[in-house]
Amino acid sequence: MELTPLVTDGFTPYPPDVAEHYRREGYWIDQTLSEPLFDSARRHPERTAVISADAHISYAALTDRVLRVAAGLEQRGIRRGDRVVVQLPNVSDFIVFVYAFWELGAIPVFSPVAHRRTEIEHFVEITGARAYVTVAHHDGTDLAALAAELHQAWPSLEHLIVLDAAGGGSAMDALLAHEPIAHRRRSLPSDVALLQMSGGTTGHPKLIPHTNETYTHSVRVSAPLCGITDASVQLIAVPICHSMSVRSPGFLGVLGAGGTVVLAPDGSPDTVFPLIQEHGITQASIVPPLLLAWLNSSLREQYDLSSLETLHVGGAKLSEEAARRVRPELGAFLQQGFGMAEGLVNYVRLDADEATAVRSQGLPSSPGDELRLVDDAGETVPTGTPGHLLARGPATIRGYYRSPELNADSFTPDGYYRTGDIVERDERGYLTVVGRAKDQINRGGEKIPPEEVENLILALDGVHDVSVVGVPDRVLGERVKAFVVPREGTDPVAVGLASIRRHLRARGLAAYKMPDIVEVVADFPRTAVGKVSKRMQRR
Ligand code: AMP
Repeated sequence: MELTPLVTDGFTPYPPDVAEHYRREGYWIDQTLSEPLFDSARRHPERTAVISADAHISYAALTDRVLRVAAGLEQRGIRRGDRVVVQLPNVSDFIVFVYAFWELGAIPVFSPVAHRRTEIEHFVEITGARAYVTVAHHDGTDLAALAAELHQAWPSLEHLIVLDAAGGGSAMDALLAHEPIAHRRRSLPSDVALLQMSGGTTGHPKLIPHTNETYTHSVRVSAPLCGITDASVQLIAVPICHSMSVRSPGFLGVLGAGGTVVLAPDGSPDTVFPLIQEHGITQASIVPPLLLAWLNSSLREQYDLSSLETLHVGGAKLSEEAARRVRPELGAFLQQGFGMAEGLVNYVRLDADEATAVRSQGLPSSPGDELRLVDDAGETVPTGTPGHLLARGPATIRGYYRSPELNADSFTPDGYYRTGDIVERDERGYLTVVGRAKDQINRGGEKIPPEEVENLILALDGVHDVSVVGVPDRVLGERVKAFVVPREGTDPVAVGLASIRRHLRARGLAAYKMPDIVEVVADFPRTAVGKVSKRMQRR
């Protein structure tokens, strides 16, 4: 049956001439996100696709699971264009579910397992999600109970799929018991294929709509730039829904190439060093604090890490000092990356000289990427001068999902995304990140919108005013600090760290967004015009 284009409200389309240009240039091709996996499975069904704590899954077994789960989901009524929240830890079922949804043309909303009620409810509300896939509990939180509450509160949320804490369990078995559906195209390459979370600066995280075309393009350019081949054995040790785990080059890059993905529940040396030795891992994508933990671990001597060829580090700024230690101490090539879920990704090339590899955050990955560096007035800055980075291209969105007001600020009228990053570009085009203009905290790669945390703290009894900022931290880059002005007569303890964290937990905020430090103050430092000076508070 001929498919007609999917209309997704709240999605900012590319201008028709731009879309046509991207197709003509071969940036956007006739492919959906699930097809490269099935191509790999046809080429070598017996090879191992995914290794996780419990299992080695071959390509044949993985595609079989995908088609069985897709059959079960289809029987429940999940269809093309439906939004479905997927909140799972680093387990093979995450990969099975997202491919199953793509097989049906449904749109997974990627939610980190660390998210709690505040974030999940927002996703359910804004997307009108029909299904929520999660685990029974995580890190002491009863997610099954949360799922049941949301099911009661949101009529659109018809289906709950609650797996055991480490994946699997009776809900998974019930889906796997279905006869597999046939693999065929049920969505168009131009369809919105997933919604990913943005770090955000405002009250709630924004959602980023990627189509099959934008995402497959990003994967296709990333995989060769990161040296991915069918011999790659990739470690996924940061949350599996992050861009670096999914597409940069991510499991999509590796499974499309016919390699093997190894899933680790976390990135600590005691978890991952044995996995590197046992499976001969060749590539890993990690954030700077994990790299520091690996470099400084005494366990390094006890394991053979010599299979590691490339260590991809991104998500937050890496210090040059740590960067210099990678080659001599871990024996791997350090590949810095600088990208954003909105689309643009830059990689240092694998043949870069040492100075470039340790200092720079890379060159754009797509030949179709257009970058502008501008000053505060929007004028282009000369080479070597820091400027605000604006980006447009075949992997970069033109607008957040269902966010017209925010889009007017976040995108220029001619479609450039305002990244909020301050970068320098050298004569070769290499970028170095030198700062940030957006009001966002980057805690070791996890992004936190201060306004979201401030709004919740303001609801605590005894708080008159609050300002949340990122303060420098040697390991994480930044930590979250809240300056609190108490109401008159309030005991400072009532608005101290313990009370605030308890309050935020009760409100259902993800733990990584909680303040690390609280300082109770009489007032905030002010700028000349009387605004709170976050710059002074960051010191
Ligand atoms: P996310 O969408 O969560 O990947 O966050 C994207 C943001 O992370 C970018 O806009 C930057 O602010 C920051 N970021 C990512 N990679 C780097 C890097 N290598 N150095 C400095 N900041 C980075």
